[in-house]
Amino acid sequence: MMGQHDGQKALFSYGVDLERRVRADHPLRRVNAMIDFTFARAAVAHTYGENGNVSVDPVVLLKLMFLLFHENVRSERELVRRLPERLDWLWFLGYGLDEEAPNHSVLSKARARWGGELFEELFVRTVRQCVEAGLVDGAKVHLDGSLIDADASRDSVVKADAETIARIRAAYGAQERKLDETKPSSARCETNLKLVSTTDPDAPCVSKGPQSGTARPRYKHHRMVDDKKGVITAVVTTAGDVAEPAQTTPLLAQHRANTGKEVMAAVADRGYGTVENYCDLIAQGVRPHLSPMQPAGHKSEGLFTKEDFHYDEAADVYICPVGQRLKPRRFHQRRQMTDYVADKKVCAQCPLRGECTKSKTGRSIARHWKEAELEVALAFARLPEAQADRRRRRHLMEGSFAHAANRYHFKRARWRRLWRQQIQDWLIAAVQNVALLCGGLGAGVTAKPRPSPKVRRSAALFAFRRVMADLRVPVLAPWWRGTHRALVAA
Ligand code: SF4
Repeated sequence: MMGQHDGQKALFSYGVDLERRVRADHPLRRVNAMIDFTFARAAVAHTYGENGNVSVDPVVLLKLMFLLFHENVRSERELVRRLPERLDWLWFLGYGLDEEAPNHSVLSKARARWGGELFEELFVRTVRQCVEAGLVDGAKVHLDGSLIDADASRDSVVKADAETIARIRAAYGAQERKLDETKPSSARCETNLKLVSTTDPDAPCVSKGPQSGTARPRYKHHRMVDDKKGVITAVVTTAGDVAEPAQTTPLLAQHRANTGKEVMAAVADRGYGTVENYCDLIAQGVRPHLSPMQPAGHKSEGLFTKEDFHYDEAADVYICPVGQRLKPRRFHQRRQMTDYVADKKVCAQCPLRGECTKSKTGRSIARHWKEAELEVALAFARLPEAQADRRRRRHLMEGSFAHAANRYHFKRARWRRLWRQQIQDWLIAAVQNVALLCGGLGAGVTAKPRPSPKVRRSAALFAFRRVMADLRVPVLAPWWRGTHRALVAA
């Protein structure tokens, strides 16, 4: 049976008035005034019965989970242990000095009982309040994804054939349903078919990059941030091996639903610059201010690039610098590309062969089946406005992630299974939006904290490399050469 908390019963027995003890400009006062948590009672009423023990008020539980991230407390056990010592927390929850704090275990039970909808609603409410407060423009958005370490060690990963792994996953799902009385996670790993973490089967093994250490169980957080003030307008959580570009359309749909505004331009890094993304955005009327893909030139440097060849649309051939026609020869279904190939006998006699190709079979050019749409999209991506947006993205998007990581324990999953990680992401996004909402309206909450020393060091090093690239100063360090070449080319 759902309980309802009636306020501070023992407030005056000690002659202590929490209302007077908590300072007027305390950030939690602003949060309390700004966010109405009482919607939780109606939202989860259907998950409680009519008889039986009276539960802890859902509003109190939701506020406790909000506090867990807002105050960046290490664990729920620690939060409840510290609760009687913190007058501001007691005031925020509406508890009296003498009242017994709920047991920490009721929080995990509440999550299992409620599911994720309540937390999503809390996040969406914060977005709508930001829209009403004029903090969201909605027309220009920034996208990015970040890996989250699952609450499972690498030692928990076992390797076996795909069939055995599927059986282990099924067994863990059944066991969890028995213990937690929860629905099974809908997440199924597409890859990692021969690996599974016995601690968190939803988290596939993923590394952060080719030079970033070994793979370990991870999730991925995908986020959309509005350009005006950095309000988070859409959040998606997936297994760590899900590609970022695949989440562009779901994030855009969520942004439209949450803000009620149409997107005119989407800004993202090179990772999002797939042909499908460019074409989908153009089809939706969104300008793709994505970092342009690598120029579709020849693999070897110093040779003619694709731009040196003219495409004759009527004849469906490429014309090379000496007038030779490259005809369509090979079709790649998976890559959705066609190879246009020159006559190898003509290329063998060509005076420009040394500048065109090193292949014995003659020069070839790859053309995507949606090349015409792609050229339109790339023209948008190369506009000065798009370049300025990508520079702004560096501090807006990365700042949003840095804020979450430094202040709210974002990079590490507190709980296991994908649906719980989604709850963590909704709560952190809600807390960040509330910080902006309060900061934007003059409260004492810091919306943009100082970046960590590591971030500051990286930014300084990158700025130094950029200056060296602008001055065209040659570099000797092999670890620097790739970045240097990219900056010089840009
Ligand atoms: S090598 Fe072949 S494709 Fe290249 S310029 Fe000469 S004839 Fe044309």
